[in-house]
Amino acid sequence: MQYSHSKEKANEFASEALERIHSEGLSLVPQNFELWYCYFAQANTEVVRAIDVLTANKQKVNDDTCAEIHQRFLSDSKENERVRQAGDQIQETIIGVKERVGNVKAITHEYIEVLQSASGTLNENSSPEEMKLTLQTVIGNTRSVLEQNQQLEEELERSTAVMQELQRDLELVRQQALTDGLTNLANRKAFDAELLRIAEEAQVEDLTFCLILLDIDHFKSFNDTYGHQVGDQVLRLVAQTLTDGVKGRDIAARYGGEEFAIILPQTTLQGGIKVADSLRKVVQAKELVNRNTGDTLGRVTLSGGVAEYTMGEEVDKLVERSDSALYTAKHNGRNQIAAAPVKGDKKKS
Ligand code: GH3
Ligand code: MG
Ligand code: MG
Repeated sequence: MQYSHSKEKANEFASEALERIHSEGLSLVPQNFELWYCYFAQANTEVVRAIDVLTANKQKVNDDTCAEIHQRFLSDSKENERVRQAGDQIQETIIGVKERVGNVKAITHEYIEVLQSASGTLNENSSPEEMKLTLQTVIGNTRSVLEQNQQLEEELERSTAVMQELQRDLELVRQQALTDGLTNLANRKAFDAELLRIAEEAQVEDLTFCLILLDIDHFKSFNDTYGHQVGDQVLRLVAQTLTDGVKGRDIAARYGGEEFAIILPQTTLQGGIKVADSLRKVVQAKELVNRNTGDTLGRVTLSGGVAEYTMGEEVDKLVERSDSALYTAKHNGRNQIAAAPVKGDKKKS
């Protein structure tokens, strides 16, 4: 996000932001500062709306909600900004090359005319002086053409290098746009796209797949007891467990706050339950230790819902079925996996 306020205005928005961060008891991290600066400067209508809706509903504004709003509207804008810059750079490079090609064209045209006139002037009766003069003109023009060509070559080399760098940058931006900053797992946006892709593939190739939703049990009280930063550490640990526990084409994503989703292509319900239960057991077995203090923090457990894709089903419906299985697991006492009932025409795996 670009901000271009006068010094006075910037100071005013910054003071308002700091005051609000303080009065809400928020951490003074750069994202919170940017969020509140942006809010008071009214620099992003979606940020303003999101915060106004929260306050209108008398909801508590905390570090979590701020991080979520920032991630949704401001970290994305940074990516957009980089894409915009890349677009400008591409345009500049194209203009540079076009100009150079134009020069070469003009000078080549001139050169052809010089050669034509030389061939018209020169014949067996031409005097040595005439020949010398004509040759000098041809040589002079040949040099210019060579020079322009050399410059064009250099310009092309430069633009190739710029384009390659842009390609790397844009790939990075694309990756970041699809990755959850805290856990490095695929984010919700990437998950939504992958789920659609796998469902389409399943329909075309007549395959099945499973969706697992996992949610950390009583995570709110864990956070309240040990603090948000320790909570974040636990989220990373669970994410790592999921990454280590799935393989090949399986996709692990952070679905929301303390919820994770796993897509298991070409896997039946039984297979999905097995994977979910083994992940649950691995997480449960981990004795958590606070990295900074060395204190033991007990354990966290996961509840999970698994659903197998029903041929032709909308992906939203599949998510809904996994979610209601997750709800069943919670309802039945947590730290367990529940499966969504299979219905409709089931195809082979
Ligand atoms: P349940 O067993 O029913 O799932 O209870 P719960 O407390 O886990 O569920 P609830 O939805 O009430 O609370 C989820 C909590 O997860 C709220 C918030 O404290 C925590 N949380 C969500 N996102 C983050 C995050 O990015 N970092 C940290 N540290 N905590 C988060
Ligand atoms: Mg939970
Ligand atoms: Mg939850």
